[in-house]
Amino acid sequence: MNTDGLPELTDIGIKCFLESAPLYSKKSFKLPPEPREDLRINEIDSFCEICEQKRPFHDSTLRSDRVAGAKAALMAFQQLRTGKAGFSFTCVSCKKSNRIYLLEQTVDDETITIQKYGQLPRAGIPRDKTLQKFFKEDRDNYEKAVICLSYEYGVAAFAYFRRIVENNINRLLDLLQEDLQSSGGDQETFTAIQSLRDESPMSEKIKIANLALPGHLKPDGLNPLGKLYQVLSEGVHNLPEEECLKKAKAASECLAFLVSELASRKEHRARFKSSISQL
Ligand SMILES: [Zn+2]
Repeated sequence: MNTDGLPELTDIGIKCFLESAPLYSKKSFKLPPEPREDLRINEIDSFCEICEQKRPFHDSTLRSDRVAGAKAALMAFQQLRTGKAGFSFTCVSCKKSNRIYLLEQTVDDETITIQKYGQLPRAGIPRDKTLQKFFKEDRDNYEKAVICLSYEYGVAAFAYFRRIVENNINRLLDLLQEDLQSSGGDQETFTAIQSLRDESPMSEKIKIANLALPGHLKPDGLNPLGKLYQVLSEGVHNLPEEECLKKAKAASECLAFLVSELASRKEHRARFKSSISQL
């Protein structure tokens, strides 16, 4: 296998893979220069359902396995070989909650490919509460988009996110204009956002969207509205799976940022108004 562009196998790489790779997904790494006998790592992080927060989980693989492993290592210290590996981690705080993973590894001269073929408990699919609320009319599509994203089904995820953006872009513009009006934003921006509702070529809309956001909605100059119009302008047909996955993630991030930012500003305004009116 060609090793160009492959990351080197490290504890952090294994940790990320265990924590977040979907079941049956594969990832390839360059073998490290220092031979490593197995894929074992000491710690992962996970949301503990007993502690009700994110906690470190430590390797709790049975001792006898480790002794056997150590003996084998003494006899012949060698690089990883093709085979299977099981992992068990326990929450360091409650010592009750466990995470179990099964991996298959395929090793050749310079590379290792790992596949996750088992995981307990079943991984939760992350859903953004603010987005769920915002997409209440489009709940079904949002649910499908999130599931496709979590399984890394890029083409499908991108198609669903594109549909969601299409269906909800005007509601997003409503929120934006409301925000501008209450914060005394300038008329020019307001008019620019209004013009995005008109029939005009998508290339024109991208241009306008890229200029029409106030500074507080453009972290480090990145314009999430422009990105969303970009998403609307692109067809799924010609894009490779990986590219679709990237775009679906970008759409998801842009929506989450804009919707949550606008919603929390709206909430703060309402709270301030109600408290000041009582004085
Ligand atoms: Zn715990």
